[in-house]
Amino acid sequence: MAKLQIRVYPDPVLKKKAEPVTDFDESLRQLAADMAETMYANDGVGLAAPQVGVSKRFLVLDVSPTEERGRNLLVLANPQILLADGDVEWDEGCLSLPGMSVKVHRKAHVQVEAQDLAGQVFRMDADQLLAIAVQHEMDHLEGTLLLDHASRLKRRLLIRDYQRNRMKEDSE
Ligand code: ZN
Repeated sequence: MAKLQIRVYPDPVLKKKAEPVTDFDESLRQLAADMAETMYANDGVGLAAPQVGVSKRFLVLDVSPTEERGRNLLVLANPQILLADGDVEWDEGCLSLPGMSVKVHRKAHVQVEAQDLAGQVFRMDADQLLAIAVQHEMDHLEGTLLLDHASRLKRRLLIRDYQRNRMKEDSE
């Protein structure tokens, strides 16, 4: 396994609509293992392939509490939301937007259909944090970022603060 480099805004791969996964082969299994390692190393609850520079409809998730991390890894290829209901609002962060937090409205419950590493179709029900995480990661497959959930004015302020922080980090 290898830790991958996380692409951060404004990397153009983050704005691309990702392509379907068609090959359920060894390289996909390797990608899943590397993405999981990268997610855990960065304390993320989810990671989408575009965030590591791979424009594929593929993501990993694990929203378990710290002591159970690694035991509940979910791997989803070509996920689709079948049903969604309820509303939830959450301050979300993103590994591709370090330091940024945006209040986002999501569905509180979603039913998702996806394929596993063997290409088998499965369904899963997700509530609360898992529902939020899966919707967040699926946004990445459309090239949608947290920023796109903010109003135009708010977005401008968020980008300004983000760029200031990046510049500060670069000069340190
Ligand atoms: Zn994200």
